[in-house]
Amino acid sequence: MNQSAQPQVFDLTIIGAGPTGLFGAFYAGMRELSCKLIDALPQPGGQITALYPEKKIYDTPGLVSIVGKDLVENLFDQAAQWGATFALGEQCDTLKRVPLPGGKPDEQCWVIGTSKADHYTRAVVIAAGIGAFRPVKLENESVDRFEDNGVVYFVRKIEAYAGKRVLIIGGGDSAVDWALATEPIAQQVTLIHRRDAFRAHDLSVNKLMQSKVDVKLFNELRELQGDGKLERAVIFDNRSHEETTLEVDGAILALGFKADLGPLREWGLETVGRRYLRVNSKMETNLPLVYAAGDLALQEDLDPLNLIVIGYGQVTVAVNYAYAALKPGGKVFPGHSSEKMAGK
Ligand SMILES: Cc1cc2nc3c(=O)[nH]c(=O)nc-3n(C[C@H](O)[C@H](O)[C@H](O)COP(=O)(O)OP(=O)(O)OC[C@H]3O[C@@H](n4cnc5c(N)ncnc54)[C@H](O)[C@@H]3O)c2cc1C
Repeated sequence: MNQSAQPQVFDLTIIGAGPTGLFGAFYAGMRELSCKLIDALPQPGGQITALYPEKKIYDTPGLVSIVGKDLVENLFDQAAQWGATFALGEQCDTLKRVPLPGGKPDEQCWVIGTSKADHYTRAVVIAAGIGAFRPVKLENESVDRFEDNGVVYFVRKIEAYAGKRVLIIGGGDSAVDWALATEPIAQQVTLIHRRDAFRAHDLSVNKLMQSKVDVKLFNELRELQGDGKLERAVIFDNRSHEETTLEVDGAILALGFKADLGPLREWGLETVGRRYLRVNSKMETNLPLVYAAGDLALQEDLDPLNLIVIGYGQVTVAVNYAYAALKPGGKVFPGHSSEKMAGK
């Protein structure tokens, strides 16, 4: 292979551009590691962007509250200032140990195969959150007919519901959050839930019950109707089977999502159940120079604590240990950011 045909080998590649991956890219930059982020989704932000961009987050240290999409924008800017490379819209399918391009005979690196390219890297941080996540769908032909034409599983822009009549289906955090977020701008919001117990935070449920949202418990969807576009929803009380027809312009189905590690399960990584990669206290997996952080990383004897702030801490550990492993004599402690940022 001649020199010009050799692929660029990054010091560190982060799989997943959710909050954990984005903060990891910032730290990699501060440690002067060349860094690439790969994500299957077309936009950064992970669960925040996909599931709750408009929701307020109250447990970000130092910020009383911040709207999800604003947090992602800040994280992106913080990561991008060091020139991280982004490969978005690419699902990572394979991870293989290969000879280092242009390296000595005994030198190796990783190659990550995606739907679009092969990415060469010395170290990897897997920050793939809940993996390839898919929304739980309703088995209902009329719902399929209006998908992305009135029916959504992930809300992209809350403004789309201004002045509209909205039906929300579900009883978890997403359903309650979307009901509360659309209520001030929509003409009418109806939330139906098949039981009387919510899986959402008590605080949110209390707010919901005091809001103008029309909450219909023990109700389920029978059919969506409309001529070309969504116009009506027929719902029924699952105790009396009595039907009600609602005039609606949009339906948000927030029934939860299925999480699966997907292709990662085939990479030889030690897993815990279907959702977690086993890591030690340095956030190392069982593969050399492959670390994991965020929602999918689980340490021995700990219970999962799937929160943004935990991912920040874990990825800071992962990136700094990766640095020390990559740079002979390199210290794990990065120094203070004020010193590193001076002159930037
Ligand atoms: C409704 C809701 C509300 C929440 N509210 C809060 C809150 O208020 N406070 C809080 O701290 N936490 C909250 N959370 C949890 C928080 O969102 C997660 O802890 C956080 O998103 C985890 O970040 P992450 O970067 O580890 O993973 P994720 O955000 O899941 O990002 C992982 C990324 O990896 C990508 N990926 C996965 N597999 C691959 C692959 N094979 N190839 C390429 N890319 C891949 C995914 O596309 C995704 O973009 C909430 C979660 C939900 C669902």
